[in-house]
Amino acid sequence: MYEEPVDLLIAGGGVNGTGVARDAAGRGVSVVLCEQDDLAAWTSSSSSKLIHGGLRYLEHYEFRLVREALAEREVLLRSAPHILHPLRFVLPHHAGLRPGWMLRAGLLLYDHLGGRRSLPGTRRVNLETDPTGEGLKPQYRRGFEYSDAAVDDSRLVALLAVDAAERGARILTRTALTQARRDAGVWRCVLERRGGERQTVTARALVNAAGPWVETVRGLTGVAATGNSVKLVKGSHIVVPRMYPGEQAYTLQGADGRVVFAIPYQGRFTLVGTTDVPYDGDPAHVDASAEEIGYLCRTLGDYFEKPPTPADVAWAYAGVRPLFDDGEDDASAVTRDYVLDVDSEAGAPPLLTIYGGKITTFRRLAEHALEKLQGPLGFEAGPWTADARLPGGDLPGGGFERFRGQAADRYPWLAEPTLSRMCHAYGSRIDAVLAGATAWSDLGEDHGAGLTGREVRYLVEQEWAREPEDVLWRRTKLGLHMSPAERAAFMAAPLPSVATA
Ligand SMILES: Cc1cc2nc3c(=O)[nH]c(=O)nc-3n(C[C@H](O)[C@H](O)[C@H](O)COP(=O)(O)OP(=O)(O)OC[C@H]3O[C@@H](n4cnc5c(N)ncnc54)[C@H](O)[C@@H]3O)c2cc1C
Repeated sequence: MYEEPVDLLIAGGGVNGTGVARDAAGRGVSVVLCEQDDLAAWTSSSSSKLIHGGLRYLEHYEFRLVREALAEREVLLRSAPHILHPLRFVLPHHAGLRPGWMLRAGLLLYDHLGGRRSLPGTRRVNLETDPTGEGLKPQYRRGFEYSDAAVDDSRLVALLAVDAAERGARILTRTALTQARRDAGVWRCVLERRGGERQTVTARALVNAAGPWVETVRGLTGVAATGNSVKLVKGSHIVVPRMYPGEQAYTLQGADGRVVFAIPYQGRFTLVGTTDVPYDGDPAHVDASAEEIGYLCRTLGDYFEKPPTPADVAWAYAGVRPLFDDGEDDASAVTRDYVLDVDSEAGAPPLLTIYGGKITTFRRLAEHALEKLQGPLGFEAGPWTADARLPGGDLPGGGFERFRGQAADRYPWLAEPTLSRMCHAYGSRIDAVLAGATAWSDLGEDHGAGLTGREVRYLVEQEWAREPEDVLWRRTKLGLHMSPAERAAFMAAPLPSVATA
């Protein structure tokens, strides 16, 4: 029970809720964030994991969104060089696409719209001679190569929550907002923990960052619908054994005009997605359907000489995009931009509702949200996140490779690929995970695939991991690397219960 009103109660621990919590806490605003499940349990762990402008959104004239997203690539690469990395995309050209000169013009616009500085620009590629043509069908002779970036989406959310908490925010996971009503100038809210325990929070402003559940949470508040709403669009991905050599990704256009990415993933795999299927079911029960998996494999078969079949799929996942409903019927054409709706009648505490958005734009979305809350909450501090690092992002020595080399010198007993994985996951905080250890045997139980008791304990104590799948599928992706027996053993045992973060 919080006797004193907090400034901000945020419902939803995806990228948008944690992004707002971090920005607000850094400005001295008191924050409680509640998440009904685990951090990034839903859409924010089911993305294509790209920090991108969205080349195809240019076709829909979404210049504001694309400019903002392109500029964010550079900001986020500086802010979290451990969990983000630049990626080159190869776009094989063929007669079914727009003419080469038009694509080139679009890519030049893409190169310049967002003030690209560190990432290399577009180039033409001769797929007959360039290594990136290896594995493609021989009819693909020409193409383009351009820059974007990739991110570990669920770790991004965990790190935003860590940063928010270190700046004073309270992060409550497995805790749902179940009631909210305006009373005497504040929001009086009831939060219910898994297991039924309830607490009351009084807040001067409420942020609805519930993603696919945004309408349900608005319903709790009793605030009348404004005409804004979300359109749910399901997207699925498959993970298959690595399909081609090289670290480049591919941008492929399916027979129906939709874009499918093939992206190097987790060293041994290729991540392929996505689909765009209108969805009106329960957001908590989404699966990649056999039809979607077949479509992704067929699209790969249009381009690659040895495409995977559905039987090769090592893992598949699906998520629901909570898109701002702009009245567009075609699921691929619905805007990917966000809308912030503020309901604040005179004297009433504000409700800020987030519609839409992308992983890529969470930081700017948070800045815009704080701009809208500044008047009602009366804080003075301005934007600060553009030049800030996320936890672990202050890599000593600058670049990631240099940092990894230094870590290898400090921990010569930490074998690959675990060393690289941990450098990416924790950045400079790898020293906190490994504190005091001088040998592998110091790290406790070996769960397989490089996961140790020490790391699990760190994730429980510092990053709100509470159930085995939080560790295997969100804080890490080691579920993909463990043997079935290792995975089953880990899933069967409860995580250690220790003092919470
Ligand atoms: C297939 C797919 C591919 C995508 N690819 C990309 C990409 O490559 N790049 C990119 O930038 N974006 C991408 N996106 C978009 C991006 O993933 C989403 O825009 C973003 O994750 C939405 O975040 P969110 O915080 O709004 O929602 P969510 O991550 O869904 O978070 C909302 C949270 O609110 C919680 N919640 C709901 N109700 C309550 C309640 N009553 N109390 C407490 N908590 C509650 C939910 O449990 C949930 O965790 C993709 C999306 C999909 C589906």
